[in-house]
Amino acid sequence: MTGLVIKNTGSHYGVRAEDGKEYLCLAKGNLRLRGFRSTNPIVVGDLIQLELNEQDEVHYIRDILPRRNYIIRRSANLSKESHILAANLDASFLVCTIAAPETSTTFIDRFLATAEAYRVPTELIFNKVDLYTPEALEYMQELIELYSGIGYPCHAVSATTGEGVDELLGRLEGKITLFSGHSGVGKSTLINRLIPGAELRTGQISMAHFKGMHTTTFSQMIPLPSAGGGYLIDTPGIKGFGMLEMDEAEVSHYFPEIFAESAHCRFGNCSHTHEPGCAVLSALEEGRIAPSRYTSYLGILEDKEGGKYRPEYK
Ligand code: GDP
Ligand code: ZN
Repeated sequence: MTGLVIKNTGSHYGVRAEDGKEYLCLAKGNLRLRGFRSTNPIVVGDLIQLELNEQDEVHYIRDILPRRNYIIRRSANLSKESHILAANLDASFLVCTIAAPETSTTFIDRFLATAEAYRVPTELIFNKVDLYTPEALEYMQELIELYSGIGYPCHAVSATTGEGVDELLGRLEGKITLFSGHSGVGKSTLINRLIPGAELRTGQISMAHFKGMHTTTFSQMIPLPSAGGGYLIDTPGIKGFGMLEMDEAEVSHYFPEIFAESAHCRFGNCSHTHEPGCAVLSALEEGRIAPSRYTSYLGILEDKEGGKYRPEYK
């Protein structure tokens, strides 16, 4: 029987199996040893082969099915090891706001570039619209035009008044989704709006089994109330993905509109900073690439020159 890992304590797993039931599982020993570089071999979102244990209520995960994508973080103090946060994401949503604390386009663009590298489709949520001044609303419209034009769907919501929340819920239906955002943007308020009682629910799992768990490694998927199902991934401590190690030449690949223009640059190894015949610079001048996006692109390149980024994983 196959199943979906919906809870992970680091030692025990909660699995929703094909039969619709939830099983408490351990990883089979050989699975843990089988050459996984990651400190955690199984993560929420993993599809697994389940082996039922007739003698006990604790069952086994026999195998992990190939992952479509995953997000990863370098483990603290272990530069060669990495910590996978979640797998098989259908989408990632970044909660932003133009009210305090305002989310910068630099942060949005770094997040989007990283999500591109992970091949996770991303959408933006502008929260707290009830607080926006006319100027802020105008700025939001500009951002929505910019980002939806590049291919990132945008949503304007208020977690407080509920504006836009039903449409957003419709968008999440049937998907496994990760919510990220700087603290203070209203992520928790929004999740509780989307899933009434989410907080309650997170505390309600058959915790008797989940003994000795570390809250930092605990992650779970919260089922959505929509008819078509779906889950939100709620992982403590994920504010964003954390920037991936990218080759300098690779950075432009993660800015889709810059990448599209770069096909027309004179030189194949154009860095789009100073070269003659650079199609990206022309597009910037002609307003087809937004200055804010180009600035974010340069920012990532400059960080790299400064050696700020160490390899995060192999
Ligand atoms: P988190 O750190 O992203 O989880 O943010 P919280 O959900 O804790 O929200 C931070 C603050 O913003 C709280 O005081 C919320 O009441 C407030 N807040 C969240 N969403 C909205 C919104 O849509 N409108 C308004 N006016 N306040 C909001
Ligand atoms: Zn160029």
